[in-house]
Amino acid sequence: MLSNKGKIWFNNRFIEWDEAKIHVLSHVVHYGSSVFEGIRCYKNKEGSAIFRLEDHIRRLFNSAKIYMIDIPYTQEEICEAIIETIKVNNLEECYIRPIVFRGYKELGVNPLNCPVEVVIAAWEWGSYFGQEALEEGVDVGVSTWRRMAPNTLPNMAKAGGNYLNSQLVKMEAIKHGYDEGIMLDYNGMVSEGSGENIFIVKDGELYTPPVSSSLLPGITRDSVIRLANEMGINVKEERIPREMLYLADELFFTGTAAEITPIRSVDGIKIGDGRRGPLTEKLQDSFFKILRAEVDDRFEWLTYIE
Ligand code: PMP
Repeated sequence: MLSNKGKIWFNNRFIEWDEAKIHVLSHVVHYGSSVFEGIRCYKNKEGSAIFRLEDHIRRLFNSAKIYMIDIPYTQEEICEAIIETIKVNNLEECYIRPIVFRGYKELGVNPLNCPVEVVIAAWEWGSYFGQEALEEGVDVGVSTWRRMAPNTLPNMAKAGGNYLNSQLVKMEAIKHGYDEGIMLDYNGMVSEGSGENIFIVKDGELYTPPVSSSLLPGITRDSVIRLANEMGINVKEERIPREMLYLADELFFTGTAAEITPIRSVDGIKIGDGRRGPLTEKLQDSFFKILRAEVDDRFEWLTYIE
């Protein structure tokens, strides 16, 4: 639930939460013309730290580039504005949502004449699937909806319109009694969840679909690959057939919202022992130790709020 409190950064000035409104005829409302990010800030014993801020903002600018959106700020300015937003709202631990969208001017499909608006909001948000899910795992189903084919909508852009596909997947999953859905790509190979990347553990190795399987290259995905490499675990980015999900020793989702969430069943089929597996736990442990500042931030993933 959104806590409607605090201030929102809107085109370079802070305004009250309830005043952060746009016109109903804004281009984005009709055509999904936005790019955005989801970022987390964690409180630990050293202070409040934003996880991989610069990487998220680089992806935001890449998403904008794909859609020919000129963001009227530099990446450094957006990073600075995010830090300010957290400070102004006195948040210690939060979810941060920068969004860039086409605003109000014309309502034809052509977006190029509409103004580009930039907004940053931040609010307190717990774990996406609930704290219990991080230990017990979630139940998922393979969706009847496919991930967008690469020549339809670019999956490497984190764009508002892409989430219509994600919404269909999420709604279907919920209607069928699952926590989340997994999409296959246009070739019928495993792609990703509605808002998460996916990993398989099999015989001590990690497998995850490649970017060519129509997925968002997640920052948590990249973090897990780096942690696994550091542990000497082999990571294979290769196309994954659906049945490999069922035969996995362990399965887990990664994402800013989902963090590292174990999957305990797919289509009603128990995965491994039907609960969090040892390698998933080891990766979670090493991931959260960095966030909690219990170990050295050796990858320089944390940006502290001064
Ligand atoms: N795939 C999709 C479709 C997503 O929405 C997300 C969340 N941003 C992810 C994967 C995971 O990306 P990240 O780890 O950067 O949050």
